[in-house]
Amino acid sequence: MKRIAFFDTKPYDKIWFDEFNNGKYEIVYFEGKLNRHTVGITRDFDAVCGFVNDDINEYVINSLVKNKIKILAMRSAGYSNVDLKAAKGKLPVVRVPAYSPYAVAEHAMGLLLTVNRKLARAVTRTRDFNFSIVGLMGVDLHGKTVGVIGTGTIGRVFINICKGFGMNVLAYDPHPNKELDIQYVSLEELFKNSDIISLHCPLTDSSYHILNEDAFKRMKKGVFIINTSRGALVDAAALLDALNSEKVRGAALDVYEEETDFFFEDMSGMIIKDDTLSLLISHPNVVMTSHQAFLTEEALKAIAKTTLQNFDDFFAGKPLKNEVLKSN
Ligand code: NAD
Repeated sequence: MKRIAFFDTKPYDKIWFDEFNNGKYEIVYFEGKLNRHTVGITRDFDAVCGFVNDDINEYVINSLVKNKIKILAMRSAGYSNVDLKAAKGKLPVVRVPAYSPYAVAEHAMGLLLTVNRKLARAVTRTRDFNFSIVGLMGVDLHGKTVGVIGTGTIGRVFINICKGFGMNVLAYDPHPNKELDIQYVSLEELFKNSDIISLHCPLTDSSYHILNEDAFKRMKKGVFIINTSRGALVDAAALLDALNSEKVRGAALDVYEEETDFFFEDMSGMIIKDDTLSLLISHPNVVMTSHQAFLTEEALKAIAKTTLQNFDDFFAGKPLKNEVLKSN
């Protein structure tokens, strides 16, 4: 029986992997993340399954190859944490290209509503029998212009949700989909005209810090920023400055550029040695969740099914339709 080492696993990961695996593979779930310190434990395995905050750098890839790991399956859509250049020709890497775009797009809208209408603060107040509504004013989303960066699977679902709210949509994508009823504009125009900007593109060399100090300068005063994609799309220090100067009215974040050491762990009671993260979390105009936009039953079921199918295809010698190639 093939042995697969799963990294960065939590109880919710196991439910559907155990159900759909049904004893076919010997799966060992490790809570720790895959990185240079943990890669040694892959020695007796045939395959590895990784997640978004593993640090799968050149050293880790070479160690996996040395440990005779035959395939690396990411149980995520994004793979910016995998050194594909190092893996090329040595270790096939597969992913789950689409599982539930609704999970992420709906979370993005939930975050926008939360930051705009100050819902987290409102609930905390009423729980404390504080029925004052002073300081909870938001804006109507109806009639506002949302700028969507990246019109792939998730971006398109988010656009439809926004249209349902009666919002106008502008979009930027280097590969516009002409078949869609979407008004594509340049990034410059999107920055200039959007009341809300939502990121739905992958993290690549060209999209790194796509929202930086210069970008914030070119935006409308009072813009809302939503990031449910990858943390390093936003220069977090520049975002903090833009929030403090009130150029940005609110930020709704499910990801953070230095999240690897913190997200998915219970760190309550510990000293967070990242001042930018601490300042963002405690900022009155920021709502942050811990990379949970994917966390729905439907998404987790689809992730388990596709990942196990990726392993089945590989071990049966079939073509890998979800292989991630360096050129992607
Ligand atoms: P997708 O591949 O279907 O679409 C990505 C789109 O972004 C494509 O249309 C592509 O042309 C476009 N794009 C590429 N580079 C760009 C750039 N520089 N500027 C603007 N657009 C660009 O991907 P998807 O399934 O829609 O997912 C989008 C991203 O969401 C993923 O890359 C991942 O980082 C993130 N994600 C986050 C979570 C979460 O839990 N927070 C879950 C799943 C995916």
